[in-house]
Amino acid sequence: MSRVADADCFFGGREELLSPDDSMNACFTAFDKDRDNRLSVVEFGGLCRALFRNDAGKPYLLEARKLAEMFSVFDKNEDGYIDREEFKMCWSKWIKTVVRPVSAFVIVDVQNDFISGSLAVCNCSAQHKGEEVVPVINEALDTIKFDVVAYSMDWHPNNHLSFVTNVAKYPMHPSSKVKAADAKLYDKVVYDGDPVKEQILWPPHCIQDSWGAELHPDLKIVDNALWIKKGYDPEIDSYSAFFDNAKISDTGLSRQLRQRGVTDVFVCGIATDVCVGATAIHSLEEGFRTIIMDDACRGVSAEDIETLKQDIMRNSGVIVATSQVKSMVQGRDRRPELGYKLALMLRDARPC
Ligand SMILES: [Zn+2]
Repeated sequence: MSRVADADCFFGGREELLSPDDSMNACFTAFDKDRDNRLSVVEFGGLCRALFRNDAGKPYLLEARKLAEMFSVFDKNEDGYIDREEFKMCWSKWIKTVVRPVSAFVIVDVQNDFISGSLAVCNCSAQHKGEEVVPVINEALDTIKFDVVAYSMDWHPNNHLSFVTNVAKYPMHPSSKVKAADAKLYDKVVYDGDPVKEQILWPPHCIQDSWGAELHPDLKIVDNALWIKKGYDPEIDSYSAFFDNAKISDTGLSRQLRQRGVTDVFVCGIATDVCVGATAIHSLEEGFRTIIMDDACRGVSAEDIETLKQDIMRNSGVIVATSQVKSMVQGRDRRPELGYKLALMLRDARPC
């Protein structure tokens, strides 16, 4: 019995993907159980059960609605079957990415001020200890072969509008419930301008070239990493490593990840419900399959962290423990949420 015939194990070894046309045809044949030269929804379901498995080979559950939606992305002519021609796109743009993702590890703002400085998360309501992310991230860097590693840094000038000490320097919009004269730490104000900007008032933090802006001294720095500095425009805040908070200026991270063929973005760092969360949400919006490494993050508010996680999962992102990441990077643990996310991206990119 040939390996190809054993559809259940088809994606168990990555070597099948090495000779393009033969592998693609073998895959199609393996799941075309009734040999009618086309894949029905049921046959496609069989393919998905072989594709979406954990590291131990156990299939993940896949909702029927999501299965049907993914099927419809590849059944371009909407005849209820995926034929060999339609399967080409399914294979090259979808299956290959699911089995061989290109990964980026984005380490967000592991800076002194957020750990033991002026905006230390230990003083915020969740009372997290920011330094606890450092050994987890270091071990991930030591043991997992990410294709790209990126470090982001909050990098503010002295006159930055997010600092409570600067609240009188910027014009307030009439809609702001808190007026400049009454504004205090952690209040939300609305600054005038184009666009009008909601802003939480933080203590001065991560001032350019200061100790507080430096990365934690024990954080491992790898060669050839990408470096993203953000928040240097005094008039707008920038929580995400991709864009400022109004999505006007772009840090270039998305372009650099695309240039390197990245499909999957693993996000960690500080703070979960602020800069890590904003980075993960923008990553999803940019079309990357996005994973938050929960134990490599620390946050501000337990309630906001929970809200963020729900947001991420609702948008087909995944929350995992760092111990699960290696097999995901290697394509041995293949999550249906991420496959679904990619299928939706392919659908939306397709001309009508
Ligand atoms: Zn900041």
